[in-house]
Amino acid sequence: MDVRLLEATDDPEELICRAARNDYMSEFVADQTFPETMAEIDGETTREKQETLISHLLDHGHFGPFEHPHATFAIEGVSRSCMAQLTRHRHVSFDVQSMRYVSFDHVDPDAVREGELVVFPPSATDPDWVGRNQKTGQVDEETVEKREEIFADTVADAVESYQELLELGMPPEDARFVLPIGTKVNIVMTMNARMLMHVADMRAAADAQWEIRGMTEDVLDLAAEWCPITFEHYEEHMRNRKNRLSP
Ligand SMILES: Cc1cc2nc3c(=O)[nH]c(=O)nc-3n(C[C@H](O)[C@H](O)[C@H](O)COP(=O)(O)OP(=O)(O)OC[C@H]3O[C@@H](n4cnc5c(N)ncnc54)[C@H](O)[C@@H]3O)c2cc1C
Repeated sequence: MDVRLLEATDDPEELICRAARNDYMSEFVADQTFPETMAEIDGETTREKQETLISHLLDHGHFGPFEHPHATFAIEGVSRSCMAQLTRHRHVSFDVQSMRYVSFDHVDPDAVREGELVVFPPSATDPDWVGRNQKTGQVDEETVEKREEIFADTVADAVESYQELLELGMPPEDARFVLPIGTKVNIVMTMNARMLMHVADMRAAADAQWEIRGMTEDVLDLAAEWCPITFEHYEEHMRNRKNRLSP
């Protein structure tokens, strides 16, 4: 899996602060410089003033201003299972690699056994892996080797069957029905900072599946570089709170 920031609002935290200050000023925000907009906020420097205002907004549930800055992420090589979970979030915009137009006729089924084209869950190869609903997951080496063999054979067979169906003239949009749910897909997704916190609340949590959790942790790392005051506050004060609804 590879997650990268493709494009994002420049200076997102200036935008958040401008939007929030708009709510409490008689002046027109577009007529003011940023320092003028922030003049009444506590803090020595502009950065300190931004920290004061952004923390206040987050602590008081004033989340609207966080809907203005957007970020677009490119995600390579997650499973279609992970995609199904991710695309449940209705305020995120997606582009998903098509299996109608991209066919996998060139993939060597032996390479599929090595993890190309289909995601191998850690439980297929790690004897110490404990699943979400298991009290203990530990098995001996022999058992996990058997698991890996069955998993690798099954997905390689599926890819081979898919390629045979293409050769027999079946259109890719129909032949894909035999491919596993672990088949890799590339996604582009865009969301605002408020939604990013909401997705993180749900998908970086301990009860989320390992794959979407790993993806969301990568997104959060990128968000912390893009929008540092907001996501530092989120990490320290919001991430593990109870009874969250949104974000
Ligand atoms: C660990 C885990 C297990 C899950 N298991 C299942 C499962 O077994 N089956 C299953 O179907 N789903 C499952 N889900 C998906 C989950 O139920 C949500 O559908 C999904 O996470 C989208 O999040 P959301 O509901 O917050 O909506 P989003 O689309 O992310 O919307 C964000 C927020 O906007 C508001 N909102 C959006 N649309 C509406 C609306 N129509 N009405 C009212 N408010 C709205 C809500 O406040 C919502 O929280 C699971 C999720 C997790 C994290």
